[in-house]
Amino acid sequence: MTKTLITNGTIVTAADTYKADVLVDDEKVAMIGKGLKAAGAKRIDATAKYVIPGGIDVHTHMELPFGGTFASDDFHTGTVAAAFGGTTSIVDFAVQGMGEPLETARDAWLKKARGKASIDYGLHMIVRDVTDKVLKEMDVMVKEGVSSFKLFMAYPGVFQVDDGSIFKAISRTAENGGLICMHAENGGVIDVLVKRALAAKHTEPKWHALTRPPEAEGEATNRAFRLAEMAGGIPLYIVHLSSSQALEQVRLFRDRGLPAYAETCPQYLFLSIDNYDEPGFDGAKYVMSPPLRERWHQDELWKGLARNDLQVVSTDHCPFCMKEGYQGLPKQKQLGIGDFSK
Ligand SMILES: [Zn+2]
Repeated sequence: MTKTLITNGTIVTAADTYKADVLVDDEKVAMIGKGLKAAGAKRIDATAKYVIPGGIDVHTHMELPFGGTFASDDFHTGTVAAAFGGTTSIVDFAVQGMGEPLETARDAWLKKARGKASIDYGLHMIVRDVTDKVLKEMDVMVKEGVSSFKLFMAYPGVFQVDDGSIFKAISRTAENGGLICMHAENGGVIDVLVKRALAAKHTEPKWHALTRPPEAEGEATNRAFRLAEMAGGIPLYIVHLSSSQALEQVRLFRDRGLPAYAETCPQYLFLSIDNYDEPGFDGAKYVMSPPLRERWHQDELWKGLARNDLQVVSTDHCPFCMKEGYQGLPKQKQLGIGDFSK
């Protein structure tokens, strides 16, 4: 057992801020008090420093395969960066290959993480094809510790699943105790808007946002909660909520007493659609889905957090480099020069 004594820090908890010492025994906080003594403990002087609980980032994508390349952080670099920022746990997303058993995807992600991560980690599972076999596998995943399943209402042909499949998966979580996490954007409409924009030679990064309107997020959020309602009022969690239109739906269902939950991310609280206008190709730095919104959405999201309509802030950490490629693969953000949809 290793003991650590953190002395003279300013402790910040959910309820209070005060000066005291913290004794950590192995990985658990054993005692908080003034003038604590612990023989043989490793001592850390936290004078003039805050001592806060470690952050949990429930939405990260280390080494995510996407668009012919991979997110540039792996479980080593990503978790070291997280630790420097005070985040001590992440929940990353394993991705099911088409037709692949969920177990295979989970094991592949555990392999990416094992021996590399410098903080704690857990996994969600991105489910891409919801067959009867996969529904049964979900039960096993829940028993073995992967209890949340992300489905997509966008990216047709890549990630998108239809409403029937979503309904089946939600119903299954009612039985096995899992939770569906939804990427809520109307992929069909977005696909049409993207094709129209490209046909009209609108290729700049800003069009990524203009072809993924907040209404597409609002509509899908509503549909997701309706499907959960039809399945019997089953809990459902919207990931990376970015717009007032989507938040309105969360509030609507919560006000009706339904178990509707959502997270937002710092980028939606601090950045806006104006960032796509940065000079040259710099707007590509902000290409993410859902995209950045008009500035007024930020106020609504902050209110959503204050009123607990949004319960979680996560990062959706999924970095791609502006210039470099990934281990010999084509360059990352530059793939989007001349076509915002890449
Ligand atoms: Zn994500």
